[in-house]
Amino acid sequence: LGNKLQDILERLRRESTLTETQVKAAMREIRMALLEADVNFGVARDFVARVSEKAVGTEVLGSLTAGQQVVKVVHDELIETLGGTAHQPTLKNEGNVFFMVGLQGAGKTTSSGKLAQFYKSKGRRVLLVAADTQRPAAREQLRTLGQQVGVPVLEVANGETPAQTRQRVQDFLKTDFRDLVIVDTAGRLQIDEALMDQLADLSGAMQPTETLLVVDAMTGQEALNVAKAFDERVSLSGLIITKMDGDARGGAALSARFQTGKPIYFAGTSEKLNGLEPFYPDRVAGRILGMGDVLGLIERAQQADLAQMEMKKAGEFDLEDLLTQLRQIRKMGPLGELMKLIPGMSRALPEGFNVDEKQIQKIDALISSMTLKERRNPGILNASRRRRIASGSGSSVQEVNRLIKMHEQMKGMMKLLQGMQGGKPGAKMPK
Ligand code: GDP
Ligand code: MG
Repeated sequence: LGNKLQDILERLRRESTLTETQVKAAMREIRMALLEADVNFGVARDFVARVSEKAVGTEVLGSLTAGQQVVKVVHDELIETLGGTAHQPTLKNEGNVFFMVGLQGAGKTTSSGKLAQFYKSKGRRVLLVAADTQRPAAREQLRTLGQQVGVPVLEVANGETPAQTRQRVQDFLKTDFRDLVIVDTAGRLQIDEALMDQLADLSGAMQPTETLLVVDAMTGQEALNVAKAFDERVSLSGLIITKMDGDARGGAALSARFQTGKPIYFAGTSEKLNGLEPFYPDRVAGRILGMGDVLGLIERAQQADLAQMEMKKAGEFDLEDLLTQLRQIRKMGPLGELMKLIPGMSRALPEGFNVDEKQIQKIDALISSMTLKERRNPGILNASRRRRIASGSGSSVQEVNRLIKMHEQMKGMMKLLQGMQGGKPGAKMPK
């Protein structure tokens, strides 16, 4: 055991803060994950550089490996980069104008309908303006959506100037008060200067309070350039990421956000009118990293850290503590993985001890058959007590013996770990 213990302690000591080598190794994986999620190459590079700087020297939580700790730092930073928490456009009492822009097929028209429904349900009086005169079917599409939602749709006529459009909207509002006007515009398959000029003109006339870029989550690498081009010409105030119900991991969101620094307000999650949700950076961060499970595990490990600290205060680690901790851990989730995360637990388990639910139940049953006095003072467990506990829990005496031995090993390990975590320089490393 001596040698093994030495290895473990060495490893733990090395992992108390993240080293440059560890961070570098982990960042290679992170960069791959970002590129696989279709984050723009330059964005991935910048992001990794920034996070690396932050990660080196970060303290590793007791229950995490260095790799998991890096993932945590990356995840936190990704959430921050994506906006931290959910944001929503701010609306005034009246005079709100949303100007929807984006490439063809991004989901402008659909999102206009969704926003109309969303804000109508919040008590707003919405007017939709169909300003996409490029495609004949575009105005009809918005008219249909308007009917479904139950809001009026003003259709821009062919050849109408932006000033004329503004006048018609103003005339409409005089007879039928509306506090939110949503303007659906035309898009092209690619950035197109002529179209950009038209958009800029219309924007100038409509004086939007929000200019929202609609980005298809599948856009991938291009999202950065699209966001840049639109921001330069019509000055964006926010983003909507559509088709998040598809396979795309959401890299486009990160790229567009990184480029513009503008909040991502909504995520489109279906073709239907109710398929619009606030954009939650934490969810998308996990999705971009493709590590939902790992992150959940890290969360639980942090809880386990807390459990361990509580136990530290209890001082001596007796069988009652073991039972309490087992039950706490069981509430947290998949056992095998969790046990591995708790240094005191997994590393003290005897060779070949297979951690599964059945074993845990067995240990629970064994300890439950003991009196509190026995749990607090395992030393008094003589042969007759062991026989009684065995029959009381439907086990063999060997199983009782094994538990007691395991507990002794764990106790030894925990003492060492606690000594280390207490940071006492005097704590001796066994040679
Ligand atoms: P526009 O050219 O930018 O106006 O795009 P449209 O609003 O016409 O949408 C193009 C296609 O994408 C349509 O078939 C929509 O139904 C679909 N679409 C838009 N948003 C979403 C979304 O969030 N999820 C899914 N699955 N489809 C969407
Ligand atoms: Mg459209």
